[in-house]
Parts: sequence; C-alpha cells; structure tokens
Amino acid sequence: MNAAAEYQIVPVCAFSDNYIWILRHGDQAAVIDPGDAAPVLAYLEQEQLDLCAILVTHHHGDHIGGVESLLQRYHVPVIGPKGEPIDAVSDQLVDADTFVLPQIAAGFEVIAVPGHTRAHIAYYDSNHSGCGALFCGDALFSCGCGRVFEGTPSQMRHSLARLAALPGATRIYCAHEYTQANVRFALAVEPANSALQARAEEVAQLRAAQQPTLPATIAQELAVNPFLRWDAPDVIAAAQRYRGTPVTQADDVFAAIREWKNNFK
Ligand code: ZN
Ligand code: FE
Repeated sequence: MNAAAEYQIVPVCAFSDNYIWILRHGDQAAVIDPGDAAPVLAYLEQEQLDLCAILVTHHHGDHIGGVESLLQRYHVPVIGPKGEPIDAVSDQLVDADTFVLPQIAAGFEVIAVPGHTRAHIAYYDSNHSGCGALFCGDALFSCGCGRVFEGTPSQMRHSLARLAALPGATRIYCAHEYTQANVRFALAVEPANSALQARAEEVAQLRAAQQPTLPATIAQELAVNPFLRWDAPDVIAAAQRYRGTPVTQADDVFAAIREWKNNFK
C-alpha cells in the first residue's frame, strides 16, 4: 500500500495521562479507547472527520467512559473484547479474530492479552507504515506494563510474551503516558542498562517539550522494559534481591518485578 494512502495515527489527550488514539483517513476516523467523549468530539469537529468505528481494549472507565456519548452522535459499531462487562460492545472479538475497517483502509488482528483485566485484547495491524502498529491499551506500556488486576502474573507474562514476539519494528501505541515514571522504576531494576539510560534521557527531553514518548517499538522495549526482560541476568538478580530468596522461574521473576513496581515510590 502507498504510505501516503494510509491512515494516520493521532493521539488525543484525556484525563491526566490517557491517550485516545484516533485513526484517520480522508474524512473518516476510528477511535480507540475513548475514555472521554469531549476531546474526541472536539477533534472530530475541528478536523471535520466522520466517525466510522469505536474500538475498546478492556472495560475500565478511562477507556470506555466516552462510548455512550459518542454513540448518541454517531451510529457506529463498537468493537471490543468478548468476556468483559462492556454493554455497548456490538462486535465481540476473541483472540485471532480479524476484521477490516474499510472506511480507513485498515485491517486488524486481535491478540488476547489477559492479566490487567480478564479478557483484555490488543489490536494489531501488521501492515501499517511497513512496520506494523499495535494498540495495546493497558497491557504493555513503554518501560512498563499494566497492573495485574484480574488475571495472574503468569497469565500477564504470557500475554506480554506474545506482544514481545511481534516484529521488532512494530510501533506500540499504549493508552497512557506513564513512560517517565516507568523509566525511574526500570532504572532501579537495571541501573547498568545502557539502552535504558539512553531511553531515560530521550524521555526526559520529550516530556520537557511536552511531547508524547509514544509510539515505542517492540525492539526498543525488549532492550529497556523490565517486564519483558525476565530472562535478563540483571533483572533476575534484582528480583532475587527484592524477594530475598532465589528466583529462577520466569513467572516468578515477572511476579517479583511487578510486585516491586506496585510498591515503588
Ligand atoms: Zn485499565
Ligand atoms: Fe487505563
């Protein structure tokens, strides 16, 4: 596909740190995780775009809170996970389902990423920009991951492992700007990781300029994100220091790092 003919991906900020991703093509747009309708409606109006679909990744209010208001204005399908309590979803999807949004010339594959919530899904477009685009809600963040609210650490790690297995160039569009705080924790886990040190500097500059730190890429995250690095010797050693006992299994390394982050100030 000609790159110029592709949909563009634009962040709309909501609440204190949410990104609502808008996919726009010609005069059409789709929206992912509209926790608040107001900034989405403002953007659509300002850009004179018509909404063609709403996609949601999981049931939390900061991701679905604006859906009803958008539906009052636009009669569009609401695509979302099967198995989450979201009344408005018209098209319930499960792992490996595929669908197209012809209005914006986009095609997606669903990747189930349970852990943060029971049936959280991610949307993956393997073609976008020649490198692929992943919309992962609160499953994976740059230098971090979502809290494990409804699943187990093992389930979360397996979900993240599936995302980590996507091509390295895949661009990652997370639902929150948490990168700077995540980097601070990641440096506590792996102070000697030079890729992480470089990312910390880049993130500090971007935030000072009030720029998003996203999208990240899978290759970048593999080098810096402690929640994808359960095999890295320094991460294993950090998990052992946190626990005060030997930690050998990947699931236990991940669980220790996740618990440490939950309590990290
Ligand atoms: Zn959430
Ligand atoms: Fe969220």
